Amino acid sequence: MGKFKNKIQRFFYGRYGGDTLNNVLLGVYLFIVLAYFIGSLFIPPAAVKVKLIVSLLYYVLTITLFLLIFYRMLSRNVIKRRRENDRFCGFFRLRKNKIRDRKTHVYRKCPNCRAVLRLPRAKGKHHVVCPRCKHRFEVKG
Ligand SMILES: [Zn+2]
Repeated sequence: MGKFKNKIQRFFYGRYGGDTLNNVLLGVYLFIVLAYFIGSLFIPPAAVKVKLIVSLLYYVLTITLFLLIFYRMLSRNVIKRRRENDRFCGFFRLRKNKIRDRKTHVYRKCPNCRAVLRLPRAKGKHHVVCPRCKHRFEVKG
């Protein structure tokens, strides 16, 4: 038993494991499984073609998601997986912050380096210097 546990430990050593992106993918996976189960109750048995297409779509989607989740979990390229997760979380964080700050701040992309800048909301034209690349550009309030 100890040898087996050791083998498992060695297998998982240095691998990426779970993160927010994987949890969301797992949630989508479970949602599809549930939707397929409930949906299949409502498809009449005579609709053979519809049933075939739906189940084909179901298998393609669930198998793809399943493989993607496992690939990310067992990946040894921790840096790349972490970057994927950061990009995924950042996408939602930006949208959340945009809504939170909509009365006091505006978000603009730097035309030079595409960095997103959070600027105080003010009327009229203004000049902005990007803190990342020092590019100077105009913003309309
Ligand atoms: Zn810039």
